Amino acid sequence: MDKFAFQARVYRFFWNSVDWLFPPECIGCGKEGVLICSDCWHGMVRASLNSCIFCGVQLPKRGVCGRCEHLPHAIDELRYVAAYQDVMRTAIHRLKYERDLGIAIELANLLAQIVQATNWQIDLIMPVPLSEKRKAQRGYNQAALLAYPLSLQLHLPENTQGLVRVHETRSQVNLNFQERQENVQGAFSADPTIVKGKTILLVDDVFTTGATINAAAAALREAGCTRVYALTAAKALRRQVTIENTPAIDV
Ligand SMILES: [Zn+2]
Ligand SMILES: [Zn+2]
Repeated sequence: MDKFAFQARVYRFFWNSVDWLFPPECIGCGKEGVLICSDCWHGMVRASLNSCIFCGVQLPKRGVCGRCEHLPHAIDELRYVAAYQDVMRTAIHRLKYERDLGIAIELANLLAQIVQATNWQIDLIMPVPLSEKRKAQRGYNQAALLAYPLSLQLHLPENTQGLVRVHETRSQVNLNFQERQENVQGAFSADPTIVKGKTILLVDDVFTTGATINAAAAALREAGCTRVYALTAAKALRRQVTIENTPAIDV
């Protein structure tokens, strides 16, 4: 048994025990037995493959949207599970504000299915880091809660040291697309000894404008990584970026 299989087994055993002690309820409808029931799962607005490879916006077929055509991109491709609404929105809130590890595992399973359906040859999984200050406030990085069970599922190493947020950015809430890009420019730094020559899977909870994930990817490229794929659980709808001022899509 390899290291991942062993860790995955321990992790699963732990969570099976937790489920036995505290039977889960669906976060969408309250049905007993699972955290996200199949009805709620099918009710999610799932990502379509007929979308922009950089921002996920719907297109007649997979390609690059008119807006992304004129923008620089540090990521090679974005994939996400579902729109940031309904059950997915509840799931992200539980992950982000309640440190719900059971939800993290459910979401990681969904993320793993997406990766398994691609031809991505990934060397390393990295969560988008929070600043030390933000992490201290929240107590954890929600992206790392997803990246760990995902690495166990995919039998791929994860690394939380090789990419750091070097300067504090102000909250992204209430910022428009351009302001978000300026806000995170140069915010990250990557360690070449860890990422050079590698294909990295960058994991985050929500893709909003892509400013954060592209800034993180730019740092990885500067440090010599070969490719960067971006994977998030949810994608905010474009109108949410500007009109919805909940801290849920804050980074
Ligand atoms: Zn349900
Ligand atoms: Zn696009």
